[in-house]
Amino acid sequence: MVIAKSIISNSAIRIFLQEVGKFYDKERGFEPFIPKKNQKIELLECFNYMCCYCGIHIDENTFSQDHLIPMNKSDLGLHAWGNVVPCCKECNNVKQQKPWVEFLSNKSTGKIFAARKNIIDSFITAKNYDPNMNIQEYAGNLYEDVGQVAMTLINLRYKQAEAGIKQLLQKK
Ligand SMILES: [Zn+2]
Repeated sequence: MVIAKSIISNSAIRIFLQEVGKFYDKERGFEPFIPKKNQKIELLECFNYMCCYCGIHIDENTFSQDHLIPMNKSDLGLHAWGNVVPCCKECNNVKQQKPWVEFLSNKSTGKIFAARKNIIDSFITAKNYDPNMNIQEYAGNLYEDVGQVAMTLINLRYKQAEAGIKQLLQKK
């Protein structure tokens, strides 16, 4: 039941960060990042059709979207312009929730590292993405509330199901 609670809470956090991301896009004058086909192209063009971490060629059909700042309760990255970057499927699988600079430094060193980091930093700046959103408190409260409400409802319905099944068995 503890695992169930965290699955529900984490899903709520993802939805929350997606919605806040839409709002943040609109406030900065962008069409909310879905991405639609033209948005995919725009994103890929920002990175010259290369994986932002390893530099391999990617296109609309082969790229994955990575959130530089992960969409979870502690990192609070948004699904929005400036936080979603294009990468290859392999890098996406390996990076997971790691900080992006650390992951990039595993993939490259020296001048190549500096050049790739510079492309990502410039992208974040160009899209005016501020990583300090000050939404920790709301996200923390949401995480707790959703988990508690969901578990209360699950327990309530579970007890009803239990009683119903008992009754059914007694009739036989
Ligand atoms: Zn890659």
